Amino acid sequence: MATKKRDYYEILGVSRNATQEEIKDAYRKLVLKYHPDKVPPEKKKEAEEKFKEISEAYEVLSDPEKRRNYDTYGTSDFSDYSNYDFNFQDFYTRHYDDLRDLFGDFFSDIFENFFAQTTKSKREYKEKGSNILYRLELSLEEIAKGAIKEIVYNRYVKCEHCEGVGGKQRKCTMCNGVGEVYKDVRTFGIIFQTRSTCSNCQGTGYEIFDKCRFCDGTGIVKKQERTKIDIPKGVQNGQRIILKGKGDAGRRGGTYGDLYVEIVEKPHKVFKRVGDDLIMEKEIKISTAVLGGEIEVEDILGEKFKVKIPQGIKSGEIIEEKNKGMPNSYGKRGNLKIKVIIDIPKKLDDKARKLFEELKKIGY
Ligand SMILES: [Zn+2]
Ligand SMILES: [Zn+2]
Repeated sequence: MATKKRDYYEILGVSRNATQEEIKDAYRKLVLKYHPDKVPPEKKKEAEEKFKEISEAYEVLSDPEKRRNYDTYGTSDFSDYSNYDFNFQDFYTRHYDDLRDLFGDFFSDIFENFFAQTTKSKREYKEKGSNILYRLELSLEEIAKGAIKEIVYNRYVKCEHCEGVGGKQRKCTMCNGVGEVYKDVRTFGIIFQTRSTCSNCQGTGYEIFDKCRFCDGTGIVKKQERTKIDIPKGVQNGQRIILKGKGDAGRRGGTYGDLYVEIVEKPHKVFKRVGDDLIMEKEIKISTAVLGGEIEVEDILGEKFKVKIPQGIKSGEIIEEKNKGMPNSYGKRGNLKIKVIIDIPKKLDDKARKLFEELKKIGY
């Protein structure tokens, strides 16, 4: 049962050859005039219809193509003009930028508040507890081999006396259980009502009236916790291992945050780590440097192995041993870089002194 609609130009009160600016201006004025929030309750329904009507007219006349069709065929989309189905939410989405231009910063208050009236429902609000950062110091050996470490830390957990609720509940007296409060916003000299989350109940719709004395109504209490952490081989300094749900409990029935275990690598007295590679210094005898030879080296896992020293090596030269560095999480190992330091003797016994003097005589 379609009823003949009024003329769009007539609705906006503009002439058939109105410019886009004139159409916008007319629409803006009418929105401020017919907004349902500024009419008495008994006129609300009527105002809503009017509001939709002017928005529909604006929708068609602000779009050059639709306007042309409307002018030519009396319809904007070739369907029967009187059956044209206007959807306010679609309109709002399509004209988002447009409306922001027209109404400034308050546009979302004006429009969202309008159609939210039919879709409004109480917000399910659960506070998430904080994440906790725990810095775990590990030796290079522990990182190389992987480790299971037990840590002790403090966190908030749900109060068992009130099961995390914080006490006895009743309907919030500030928002009457809705979870939201209304406040007036003045824009273009007109007052609109806007909604915001109730600060008394944080949107839950209920308040605590008989506070639990164990948690003072918060629903959470401090507790010392122990937890075991499996440290994989080859973790990097600063890397964080996340343990879901091991952080603080949220207040009043909230959810748990996470525990971030940050790896802090302790300095090592022999090895310096660069990625998966390890660097170490190794003293060699002067004779080994001159003649070449073999030395014994111990890696980060405590395994001993022989390293060949080429004849004539200089102090500071680096010998690289493949796959003797840090084990990594992929089951591989980096390299070990051995920086050779030639040990020049500070003291010589008589025999050694004689021999060095002999060498000197023949030009060494
Ligand atoms: Zn409690
Ligand atoms: Zn409330």
